[in-house]
Amino acid sequence: MTETPMQPDYSRQIALREVGTEGQARLARSRVLVVGAGGLGSPVLQYLAGAGVGELGVVDHDRLDASNLHRQPMYGRADVGRPKAELAREAIARLNPAVRVLAHAARFDAGNARALVGAHDLVVDCSDNFRTKFLVNDAAVLERRPAVFASVYQYEGQIQTYAPDEGHACLRCLWPTATVDGLVGNCAEAGVLGPVPGALGAMQAIIALECLLGIGTGLRGELLLFDFATFEVSRLRAPRCGECRAPGCVRVVDPGSAACADADLEVEIASLEDAPAQGWEVLDIRGADEFAARPSSATHVPMAELLAGGRSLRVDRRYLLVCASGQRSLAAARQLRSAGYAVYSLSGGLARLSGSR
Ligand SMILES: [Zn+2]
Repeated sequence: MTETPMQPDYSRQIALREVGTEGQARLARSRVLVVGAGGLGSPVLQYLAGAGVGELGVVDHDRLDASNLHRQPMYGRADVGRPKAELAREAIARLNPAVRVLAHAARFDAGNARALVGAHDLVVDCSDNFRTKFLVNDAAVLERRPAVFASVYQYEGQIQTYAPDEGHACLRCLWPTATVDGLVGNCAEAGVLGPVPGALGAMQAIIALECLLGIGTGLRGELLLFDFATFEVSRLRAPRCGECRAPGCVRVVDPGSAACADADLEVEIASLEDAPAQGWEVLDIRGADEFAARPSSATHVPMAELLAGGRSLRVDRRYLLVCASGQRSLAAARQLRSAGYAVYSLSGGLARLSGSR
C-alpha cells in the first residue's frame, strides 16, 4: 500500500460563513511572526499552523528545558536540550507541511526587530519579559503592523492588541513606566500552572486569525484581564495617551537606535568559577530559598538587600550580578549603574550558564 501525502483539510473552518474558501485563501497568503515559542507561543503556533496560515516566522533563542514541558506540550521529553525554534519548525511540519516556517534561533533584539516585524503581516508577542514586549511594540508601531500581546503571572493573564491607524493605544500609552524587568517574576521565578499560558495563547491565536480574516470586532483598544484562580474577567478601557500619535507615538523608540538596548549592561561568560580571575566580583542575587536549593560559587546577596544598600558596593570594583534567568539581575544592574557603580548582569542567568535551557 502506498501512502499519499495527506492534504490539509480545512473544511470545519471553511464551513464558517465568515471564513469560506475566500477566507481560507486569505490565510494561505498571510505571514505571521511569533516572538517566543514557549508557553504562549506553543498554542499560537499550533493553531495558526492548523488553520493554514501560509507562513510562520518563529523567533526563540532558548533551548528546551524539562521544566518547560508542563506548559509547552508541543514538545516532548526527547527534545530537551534542543533549540526551540528548530523544534517548533518540526512540530509545525508534522501538523501541516503546507505551512512555510522561518525559524530564527536567535534573540529578538534591537538589531533584527524592525526587519522581522516588517516582513510579516502581523506579530504575536509570546515573550516573557517587558523588554521584548516593548521592542515588539515599537517595531509594530514603526512598521505599522498589528500586534497581539499577552502576559502571564501565576494564575493571572492579560491580553491586548495594537492596531495601526485605528486610534489604538500602543503598549507605551498603557505602561509608560513599566519597562523594568525583574520586578515581577517570570515563570521560572514565580511559578505558573501550565494551561494558564495555554489559554492565553489560544486567545492570541483567535485574535490573530480574526484580524487576518477581517472578522470580529477585536479588542478595540481594550485590555482583558483574567484571573484563573477566581475565574473573574475584567475588561478595561485602554486609552491612547495624550502624547501618543501611534503609529507616530512619541514614546516609541526606534529599535535600531542604541537608546533601548541594554547591550552594555549584559555580559556572557563561559563559567562562573572563572569570573573572579577575569576581574569580576560575582554576586548571586536570588532569594535565600533559591540559593539554598541550587547554590552557586558566587557571593549570595539577595536582590532586596543589595538594592537597599545592605551590602555596600565600591566604585573601583566591577560587579557581575547573577539570578535564575537574567531578568532580576538586569533590573538590579540597571538601577545600580544609574547610581554610578560598574555593575553588569549575566545574560540569561544561571539557566543559560548550565546550558539547561
Ligand atoms: Zn503610544
